[in-house]
Amino acid sequence: LVTGASRGIGRAIAIALAREGADIVVNYRTHWKEAEELLENIEGSGRRCMAAEADVSLSGEVSRLIAATEKELGHVDILVNNAGIAKQLPVEDITERDWEETIAVNLKSAFLLTQSVLPHMRAGRWGRILNISSAAAQVGGVVGPHYASSKAGLIGLTHFYASFLAKEGITVNTIAPGPVGTDMAAGLPALTTDLVPVGRFGTPEEIADIAVSLACNGYITGQTVNVNGGRYMS
Ligand code: NAP
Repeated sequence: LVTGASRGIGRAIAIALAREGADIVVNYRTHWKEAEELLENIEGSGRRCMAAEADVSLSGEVSRLIAATEKELGHVDILVNNAGIAKQLPVEDITERDWEETIAVNLKSAFLLTQSVLPHMRAGRWGRILNISSAAAQVGGVVGPHYASSKAGLIGLTHFYASFLAKEGITVNTIAPGPVGTDMAAGLPALTTDLVPVGRFGTPEEIADIAVSLACNGYITGQTVNVNGGRYMS
């Protein structure tokens, strides 16, 4: 299950996981046409796939998404919490509503989805959870405190679940991308290549490669994997 898979990084991760043999749930919120095209692409590669509209910031929608998934494709073995928003605003203009919306979409969603898939993963003693954070968690970034905090929160969420689940065959990791050439990045004028030591934006496929590696590896857990062109050096 890849959340926010209609476009950008989520789309590339869905394609890469399907190529490795996973059946895929393409979650999306508004871009149904892109989600349907991706479904056809993945089914064409021989995997089973469903496209599922749901706003993952809402617990009722997450329950509906998981119920539909289990009915059509079975339990979730690999969860990629990728759905996200980045509203760049003048710092003084950020409202409580902006804060709550960003935390709900970028952070609360990962908690809701993890809670929903864990009973099956724990029963089967196997699972992979990947949380897509951002270098903004580490360097602050250009979007604002609401975004940086939501992305830093994912790292804490990862650390808790990774420790809690370590003995149960379930790994939990974070990928922290630097600027990647997607619609999100195109909507952020302050995000420029001169912020990136390698001098370019990353590609969604460069993030997807790491997602596949983490899904295939049982000995990496609780880590933040930085795929960022050197924007943050740990
Ligand atoms: P994007 O091109 O803007 O795509 C965002 C995806 O999230 C879309 O599929 C969108 O669905 C989905 N989405 C948004 N809100 C949702 C909600 N409430 N419920 C379900 N789906 C929702 O973004 P991207 O650049 O690929 O970013 C993907 C992730 O990587 C995000 O978490 C982002 O913060 C993170 N990231 C991106 C960059 C970058 O430079 N691009 C850098 C670091 C981290 P619809 O289109 O169907 O509405």
